[in-house]
Amino acid sequence: MGKVTAFPKDTGVNPWFETAVNRNATYTDISELKDSYDFIIVGAGFGGVMAAFELAENAPDSKIAVFDALKVGTFSSGRNAGFLWISQVTAPLVGFDHYTIDDQLKLCKLNEKVITRIDNIIKEKAPDTDFRWDGLYHAVREERNVKALDDLAKMYDKMGHKYEIFDHQEMTKRLGTDFYTKGLYSTDCVLDNPAELIRALALALPKNVSLFENTVITDVKDGAHPAITLKDGRKIEAAKIILTVNAFIKHFGFGGQEIKDVCAIQSFGAMTRELTDDEMKIFEGVQPWGVVATHPAGATVRYTPKRRVFVRTDIAYAPGYRLNIPQQRFEQSKPLLRNAFVKRFPTLKDVPFEYTYGGLIPFTANAEPLFGEIAENIFAGTTSEGAGVNRASILGTFLADLILGKKSEDLDYILANYHPSYLPPEVLRVPGANAALWWKNVKAGTEL
Ligand SMILES: Cc1cc2nc3c(=O)[nH]c(=O)nc-3n(C[C@H](O)[C@H](O)[C@H](O)COP(=O)(O)OP(=O)(O)OC[C@H]3O[C@@H](n4cnc5c(N)ncnc54)[C@H](O)[C@@H]3O)c2cc1C
Repeated sequence: MGKVTAFPKDTGVNPWFETAVNRNATYTDISELKDSYDFIIVGAGFGGVMAAFELAENAPDSKIAVFDALKVGTFSSGRNAGFLWISQVTAPLVGFDHYTIDDQLKLCKLNEKVITRIDNIIKEKAPDTDFRWDGLYHAVREERNVKALDDLAKMYDKMGHKYEIFDHQEMTKRLGTDFYTKGLYSTDCVLDNPAELIRALALALPKNVSLFENTVITDVKDGAHPAITLKDGRKIEAAKIILTVNAFIKHFGFGGQEIKDVCAIQSFGAMTRELTDDEMKIFEGVQPWGVVATHPAGATVRYTPKRRVFVRTDIAYAPGYRLNIPQQRFEQSKPLLRNAFVKRFPTLKDVPFEYTYGGLIPFTANAEPLFGEIAENIFAGTTSEGAGVNRASILGTFLADLILGKKSEDLDYILANYHPSYLPPEVLRVPGANAALWWKNVKAGTEL
């Protein structure tokens, strides 16, 4: 029996949710809740929603229930920076890099599989969703970081990925800011409003899926007859249960070293109000874009199709006992967010942020996710690095396959490789992680 001891909270004001066109859409009414289902999924982020698609499509006669403690699009899947990219290169944040080219290619293949599926669902069911193949710029400002960009280009060459390199002048023309000195642009990345996207996907789920938002799960029972308990004490049974609950998996009462080895960081974001026609002059002839810093601690920046600028920066270790962001931590991140914005857009220095928020990103030392059966008939998947949307979608899809006995080479690969490596206990981990993140920040210099 797993008793849940910590619950996610909606902290800060999430710009993506606030500006999502489908934020007032509704899901299944709680009055339709049944006493049993074939499959239960806890957590309606990309992990849970993509698990539901895979289960529903491969077992069309089954009944599936998805539960989330919050409104869909409120937690990490709805508060990320909105990059969904295929040719991702994994870079562990504080651990070691053990990835071979074959591993990278495998990840890209899995990314392509889930992103293509998301693309097809959106095209068919919700074509107006803010979901655009705008591409991605990896960019640098400081000379000392150029080598990392060049190494990335070499890696792309080995992997056979197409890209273009732009100099300072071309970057300035394309982005409307002269901040970046060099960039690598690849087209195989979607830029989206993540809250609008996850809500749209959840609304497009097949009819044999019921989704209950604002429904907290307080207990999960494993064994031959697994069940969950709702906050009001109601018990719901299922043959199998999937937990796609981000780093909160640590608080679901199940043991095992791999669950202990899941960690999390918090990062912070802000979005301006809509720019006026006058302020928009710097973006004349500029298409919406997204930049990730080549340095892993650098800022992520977007110029959105809704005439706003989004900035994400500042990383903090989130101890297992404090996964939700305390209010005072937002105050610490505000000047850093402001500074990141003004450095890139000095002429917009008087444009205020309309929204400031933060969110949780699970990670592991070797950037390998948690995946598999954690107790009898209880299955879990937790992501392991910054690019978590595609990973969560992979985890959900293949957890469903695992449950359904749908065999594939991809599933065999995942079962063999998705194992977080050992991390020391929290008491040693906190100072170690804080020191590693501080050092990353120092090395990032003005890229922050
Ligand atoms: C600021 C920021 C920027 C990011 N940028 C990117 C990016 O650009 N691209 C990218 O790929 N990734 C990015 N990520 C990471 C990515 O958002 C996550 O890795 C991914 O969304 C995880 O998806 P998930 O489905 O595993 O978890 P989540 O989306 O966190 O879903 C888990 C769900 O479980 C629910 N839950 C937990 N406990 C309970 C309970 N007891 N009862 C019921 N429900 C419960 C939660 O409410 C939550 O909705 C970013 C993250 C942050 C915070």
